Amino acid sequence: MNANDLNFRKNIFNKNNNEIYTELSNISHAEGYRVFDISNEQKFDLSLFVDDKIAPGLFKPDPENPKKFHANSITIRALKKDILLAGEDFDEFTHTYVCEKCKKELDLQFWHFCPFCEEHFRVQV
Ligand SMILES: [Zn+2]
Repeated sequence: MNANDLNFRKNIFNKNNNEIYTELSNISHAEGYRVFDISNEQKFDLSLFVDDKIAPGLFKPDPENPKKFHANSITIRALKKDILLAGEDFDEFTHTYVCEKCKKELDLQFWHFCPFCEEHFRVQV
């Protein structure tokens, strides 16, 4: 990756999904080919249902509908609802963070705040 790519990665958490999508489409190697194959995108719509009997930070798949999950209301509030990045090409966007309060390890791509203890993140992204 070149300097522009690294700059993109550093700023990704401050952008909306349309901005991220446009920038991903434009990233290319020095040799000219695209880094990310956006044409291969797939969308998955999942439904989340509140069940406060489930511990925070966990998802329970619905036994009858594979697109339906149950989770604690804290978990649902903490989750970024329109998660753009998934798949092998995006492993490098993993932003591992250990919550200062509960010490659980999280990936900041997916959370607004800690789904286990509701602590807000103390990182500069
Ligand atoms: Zn926490």
